[in-house]
Amino acid sequence: MKIMSINAGSSSLKFSLFDMATEKVLISGLFERIGIEGSSYTLKYNGDKIKVEAELPDHSVAVKILLEKLIELQVISTLEEIEGVGHRIVHGGDKYTKSVMVTDEVIDDIIRFSDFAPLHNPAHAVCIKAFKEVLPKTPMVVVFDTAFHQTIEKSRYLYPVPYHWYEDYHVRKYGAHGTSHRYIAIKLAEELQNENLNIISCHLGNGGSITAIEKGKCVDTSMGFTPHAGIMMGTRSGDIDVSIVPYVMEKEGKSANEIMNDLNKKSGFLGVSELSSDSRDIEDGIKQGNEKCILAEEMFVNSVVKYIAQYYVLLGHVDAICFTAGIGENSIDTRLKIVEKLAPLGIKIDVEKNNVRGKFAKINSDDSTVDVYVLPTNEELMIAKDTMDIINK
Ligand code: AMP
Repeated sequence: MKIMSINAGSSSLKFSLFDMATEKVLISGLFERIGIEGSSYTLKYNGDKIKVEAELPDHSVAVKILLEKLIELQVISTLEEIEGVGHRIVHGGDKYTKSVMVTDEVIDDIIRFSDFAPLHNPAHAVCIKAFKEVLPKTPMVVVFDTAFHQTIEKSRYLYPVPYHWYEDYHVRKYGAHGTSHRYIAIKLAEELQNENLNIISCHLGNGGSITAIEKGKCVDTSMGFTPHAGIMMGTRSGDIDVSIVPYVMEKEGKSANEIMNDLNKKSGFLGVSELSSDSRDIEDGIKQGNEKCILAEEMFVNSVVKYIAQYYVLLGHVDAICFTAGIGENSIDTRLKIVEKLAPLGIKIDVEKNNVRGKFAKINSDDSTVDVYVLPTNEELMIAKDTMDIINK
């Protein structure tokens, strides 16, 4: 069974075509700058990578090219071979607690929730419609990034603000990266053959979030009403005192939107280091003794440790701390610094075992109170699996 996994942004479309029997990617790629000058697409296939400049006025054109290429490259011989398409959806509001088959009502809801994810949800809807045009008979499924967090209790998802903000405007915690955290919960349970694990899942990428998982269910997560909250990130500040917003608005004569842009795109690693949002550049800066890079890394580590410690108490008993995504899977130094700060909880790293990148590994020392793992995330596979499961039902 071949299933397509789709992750569409406002001007991009990422895809992977899976052979579900082997869970192998047959072809993957990225369409970039859709609707913008200088558009192109990249395909990864059979160990090769090709980049093609192409006019991509909208998502429909990208989808048509994508399907033509699959046939041209003989990945499939007919479009019917694609038995399902799964779409990642950033926001499902508080309505969707799991992945569902695409219907007109679902598409309307995705558009309705655009207020919460203005850059993403409209693009998702456009992309679903583009696929429906070309593959009208192929079943499609949507996988919501917020769904996994819907098991959080009300006392944890509400903000201590006037209650009617929640009732009238749906102001509450929704979380993000749910597909990744769910993958981690399922995959670690599989690896350890134990479905009753309490896990602190640390998705540390350009965006980042920490999630407390009790026996496969999310009980709290660091992201909030939007993917701005929680730990420090590549260009996002994470949690800050909200009073900073009107204060700097007045100081710099900026609008709320401009300040939000600074907090979203010019903060985090980039803001503090004044160098880069990429943790590899920060690591290089640290090696050269760059004070701001040293500071940025320390702030990042502190923000992660704060959430892990909080969730350690919330869960009561923790079986595993799991590092995933770009930094979590690859940054040996950052993992080391985080785990070293967890010493008061008796959590200890094994420096040798931690010397690993991008593969499943247990990295704690034998006398650690909690096991610590590196586990590569695979959101695309999670989307494809949900799609297959729902179609087979
Ligand atoms: P993601 O959003 O999951 O793609 O992660 C992006 C982040 O992961 C960036 O900050 C990268 O610098 C970081 N990253 C990716 N590969 C490595 C690596 N080999 N070593 C350290 N950090 C890495």
